[in-house]
Amino acid sequence: MALPAAGDPVVVVGGGLAGLAAARRLAEFGHDVLVLEATDRLGGKLRCAEVAGVTVDVGAEAMLNRRPEGVALAHAVGLELEHPAVATSRIWTRGALRPLPRSLMGVPLDLENLEASGVLSQAGLERVRREPSLPATVITDDVSVGDLVAARFGEEVVDQLVEPLLGGVYAGDARRLSARACVPQLVAFAERGSLLDQAGTIPTTYDVPVFAGIAGGMGTWPARLADATGVTVRTGTTVRELRRSPTGWSLAVGPTTTPEVIEASAVVVATPAAPAARLLSEVAPRASAALAGMEYASTAVVTFAFGVDDVAELDRLSASGFLVPPNEGRRIKASTFSFAKWEWVRSAGAAAGVAHLRTSLGRHGDELALQATDDELVAWSLADLADATGLRAAPVDVHVQRWGGGLPQYALGHVDMVADLRASLPPGLQVAGAAYDGVGIASVIGSAHVAASGLLGS
Ligand SMILES: Cc1cc2nc3c(=O)[nH]c(=O)nc-3n(C[C@H](O)[C@H](O)[C@H](O)COP(=O)(O)OP(=O)(O)OC[C@H]3O[C@@H](n4cnc5c(N)ncnc54)[C@H](O)[C@@H]3O)c2cc1C
Repeated sequence: MALPAAGDPVVVVGGGLAGLAAARRLAEFGHDVLVLEATDRLGGKLRCAEVAGVTVDVGAEAMLNRRPEGVALAHAVGLELEHPAVATSRIWTRGALRPLPRSLMGVPLDLENLEASGVLSQAGLERVRREPSLPATVITDDVSVGDLVAARFGEEVVDQLVEPLLGGVYAGDARRLSARACVPQLVAFAERGSLLDQAGTIPTTYDVPVFAGIAGGMGTWPARLADATGVTVRTGTTVRELRRSPTGWSLAVGPTTTPEVIEASAVVVATPAAPAARLLSEVAPRASAALAGMEYASTAVVTFAFGVDDVAELDRLSASGFLVPPNEGRRIKASTFSFAKWEWVRSAGAAAGVAHLRTSLGRHGDELALQATDDELVAWSLADLADATGLRAAPVDVHVQRWGGGLPQYALGHVDMVADLRASLPPGLQVAGAAYDGVGIASVIGSAHVAASGLLGS
């Protein structure tokens, strides 16, 4: 099958950020692009909701600033970026909110700083001090993040630091997530020798801010992107089947009772792994089988609006929030003080006399976030917030957002699996999204560009 020529119709399945970014790239090359989105709104994991009359993010709320993909795409559609007003986070462990020591995904890089934080016991610190005496780590195939870090720094660093940081990004288990896929930099440094010895060369602080957000909410981005790109979008359109046809591909959409068939010369499947596996089952069985085995973590985000005076103590912490190690026996895994982190949230809230903050719950293998009632999620969040920060005021408003199957889990061998999967795709068919090259927004956009290049033959 020839590569699609400019003007040929291309269908993108899935109207999350990956699908929209792929659609934009293909439209820039002159294709007639149609985005089919199953739900009634674009954006997938990017979503805004009103809490106490103020529109805030209830899904992703930040992106990496030091990778170009996200910030460039937001700028390209005229969105105003903002950097966190406070860059430091805390860790709720050993009975206190402690400063998060300088680290690479939880791997400590500054002994003094680590000791001062009080995050580790004396025995844990002793174990860390031995790291420079260890030889370089030999990783033949792949290793879990937890096993890699435990071998160099001891189990306590994994439990107290790596788990909460990885939990914040993947909602996953450090001892099951692939180091090569999730923290390739860590693998590269460990293969060279001691991380503590190389700490001076490991960039954890940057001349430019690490994160960026969008004033008004990341959730405003998808619709803006679709409008600015000028592609055709159909929401409420689930793609149920993908087959080859004489002109390229045919997609069965809509209810089985009134089926509709859409023809395309090329297709990008930009859905999470499970629907992608179903769609690829006939046309790319090897890729389909690999995707069918991918596990996901479900999480929930509970957003609160409190009276401005009620959060004065939290404000004095000058922190963007705190993380909670899973072994602390708490229900929440993190809290983001949105009013302190984002100036736009503070000022929009202040105009309504409120301040917003959010908690997140749920990890891989723990369906708590899906099974609990809204009232339970709210009550658990308030109880943990009270214990961690002393905040006991009643919220003015609250919003619960569940993210069933929200975050893919990169198992050992993920990088090779994705390379093999991509190589097995027939010409004219590509995949994009969080299931492949990283779950963060910049990575997801990067995967969309890989997919578009795959179709364009560049
Ligand atoms: C709670 C939460 C917070 C996060 N916070 C951050 C953050 O702060 N920073 C960051 O960088 N990343 C964050 N992430 C990760 C990031 O938001 C996601 O990985 C990313 O947005 C996924 O984009 P995507 O396009 O790959 O998938 P999705 O957003 O899942 O989009 C896929 C789309 O495909 C549609 N679809 C599925 N099946 C079909 C079908 N058969 N036919 C048509 N359409 C279909 C879905 O309805 C959906 O709209 C967060 C994730 C979650 C869950």
